[in-house]
Amino acid sequence: MNLRNYTGKLKAVIFDWAGTTVDFGCFAPTGVFVEVFRQKGIEITMAEARGPMGMHKREHIREITKYPRIIKEWKKVHGGKCRDKDIEDMFKRFIPLQLSVLEEHSALIPELPEALKVIRSMEMKIGSTTGYNNEMMKIVTACAAKQGYIADSVVCATDVPAGRPAPWMAFRNAENLGIYPMQAIVKIGDTISDIEEGANAGMWSVGVVKSSNEMGLSLQEIDNLKPADLENRIIEVRKTFLNAGADFVIDSLVETGGLIYRINDKLAKGERPGK
Ligand SMILES: [Mg+2]
Repeated sequence: MNLRNYTGKLKAVIFDWAGTTVDFGCFAPTGVFVEVFRQKGIEITMAEARGPMGMHKREHIREITKYPRIIKEWKKVHGGKCRDKDIEDMFKRFIPLQLSVLEEHSALIPELPEALKVIRSMEMKIGSTTGYNNEMMKIVTACAAKQGYIADSVVCATDVPAGRPAPWMAFRNAENLGIYPMQAIVKIGDTISDIEEGANAGMWSVGVVKSSNEMGLSLQEIDNLKPADLENRIIEVRKTFLNAGADFVIDSLVETGGLIYRINDKLAKGERPGK
């Protein structure tokens, strides 16, 4: 196998969890971020809470404290800058709150079971990465397993030196699955940091729109949108993913099979991700 010019087929998919395979709209962490800031006397919006989604949750909290509006608010409420120990304290409060709401937000994305069948029929492996820690993932993977989704490899941000956008979780998956080169893997996720992780690891990087954190809507809310408004939101999110470096954007996991065929076709022609 010539690794510098891999022309074989895809061997694995690496999925994100919340907003991609479970928790349509990525609601589980969003409300918890709002709550931990509220406990510090700072009101943040759902959109502000969603901004850095996909990162290690401690780093996510840190990113929110860097927003100019939050810096000002923090100063007003606490009389100074947000310090490391404040971030650590919020993260400590975050963990039990997050654990308490995971189960109710662990329903599979409706299109996942069909996508899994397609992936398995192509004899591909399934890896996964997440900004959740091990304790959180124990709950999420148990709920997913009950619904028929068991990934071959699960790597948390806390299992590696740094979470997204660093590529380490992806590399650990490749190692666990015994798969290389990285361009034989497609990463599918729902946040900007997911897309960056895929690109930084040298994988094909794909954004999924409808269930995503970037869309930030429940199935019900999507159904209630006027078709033209839905279309506009989809276009906006597609742009966000492409600007972040996505090789492809899909509306939902229904397109997984077609996506794999398209990438295999590109690989056969000697094309590589990121071009
Ligand atoms: Mg996600």
